[in-house]
Amino acid sequence: MLQLSGLRRLRLSAYLGVVGLSTALKIQERGYSVTIIAETLPSDPKTIRYTSHWAGAHHVSIAGDDVRQQKMDRETFRIMWDMSGNEAEGCFLRIPQTEFYCEERKQANILEVMPDFRYLGATELLAGSKSGVSFTTLTIDSPVYLNYLLSLFLSRGGRVQRAAIQHISQVAEGAFCRAPNAIVICAGMGARTLGGVEDKDVYPIRGQTVLLRAPWIRFGVTQSSLDGLWTYVIPRRSGDVIVGGTKIDNDWYPNPRPETTADILSRALTLCPELAPPFLSQDGQTIRNPNPTVEDLQPIIIESGCGLRPARKGGIRLETEQHETISGNVVQIVHNYGHGGYGYQSSWGSANIAVALLDGVLKEVKANPET
Ligand SMILES: Cc1cc2nc3c(=O)[nH]c(=O)nc-3n(C[C@H](O)[C@H](O)[C@H](O)COP(=O)(O)OP(=O)(O)OC[C@H]3O[C@@H](n4cnc5c(N)ncnc54)[C@H](O)[C@@H]3O)c2cc1C
Repeated sequence: MLQLSGLRRLRLSAYLGVVGLSTALKIQERGYSVTIIAETLPSDPKTIRYTSHWAGAHHVSIAGDDVRQQKMDRETFRIMWDMSGNEAEGCFLRIPQTEFYCEERKQANILEVMPDFRYLGATELLAGSKSGVSFTTLTIDSPVYLNYLLSLFLSRGGRVQRAAIQHISQVAEGAFCRAPNAIVICAGMGARTLGGVEDKDVYPIRGQTVLLRAPWIRFGVTQSSLDGLWTYVIPRRSGDVIVGGTKIDNDWYPNPRPETTADILSRALTLCPELAPPFLSQDGQTIRNPNPTVEDLQPIIIESGCGLRPARKGGIRLETEQHETISGNVVQIVHNYGHGGYGYQSSWGSANIAVALLDGVLKEVKANPET
């Protein structure tokens, strides 16, 4: 039985990746009190158990013809674009972006909505590409952005509890903080094993990357190839640049593979020879290296790494259900996980849907407090 005297007194729990943080902030805007419970926090060392640290990240929608996903991506872009011109400017970099495709694309591109969008002419295409587009977008400095979201959450009175949850009943019964009225599950890959959820439609798509120090790169570029690989260059505001990548379903290997690192560097340099550090001439002019090799990149490597994109058959799970505790308390559950390779670029859109679902179930509870 839920004893509710007013929605503002509801307690909610979520998790702490980019999806959990965005959702928690949107829930706070409704006036609810939120506690985040998570095993890994943004300020922790990077780990394979926390995907958000590893993302590039850029906003380049891959929603295809999934209308719900397109809407989430576009809504998120509008919000991030505003943030990048305002209080969170330091988390973002606005850049010109070019996408080279290995095939002719007959349908209108979903990226047509992006600022400065245009199709590339035949003379602009790279070897191995048959079509391409360019537009303006933004990149997100993932670790900086996560910490920004967390500090915003804390400054609004949010609470954080570090814990590894075995089963949602532990949260529902108040093992980590006072028993909540609702739980929002934003557990990323954790949704596959978390007791009470155990969603076997969730699977990893492993992505390996190399982080370089190359502040002279101020544009983004991606090229697809026939073997399904994407090579990409994502500059961050800090001057660091992520190059990638790989995309392998059900590959759980938690460490970067050296041979993959070598392959990524080689592909990235072919796509973007500007990555090689420029020379400084005797008269102080900056000169591009005319014959760059992978060796030239060695001094600017910060780290190689890999993360598990939390993909889900059927796309992001945005649904509600109820959980009854052993003592008979009914707790509302909202699911928001399974964001695959697009968790940043759809974060605010999916958070808005999750909050609408939450509002719906909590209204029902308020109307029927004895259920
Ligand atoms: C190489 C790479 C490049 C990427 N590039 C982009 C990009 O350019 N643009 C983009 O939009 N996306 C990109 N992504 C995808 C993006 O990183 C993910 O979609 C996103 O980070 C998923 O966030 P999440 O919050 O769902 O999961 P996570 O970041 O993994 O967070 C899950 C949270 O839940 C907690 N948790 C889970 N289970 C439990 C449990 N049982 N107990 C306690 N806590 C638990 C974890 O500790 C963590 O705090 C990329 C991913 C990779 C790997």
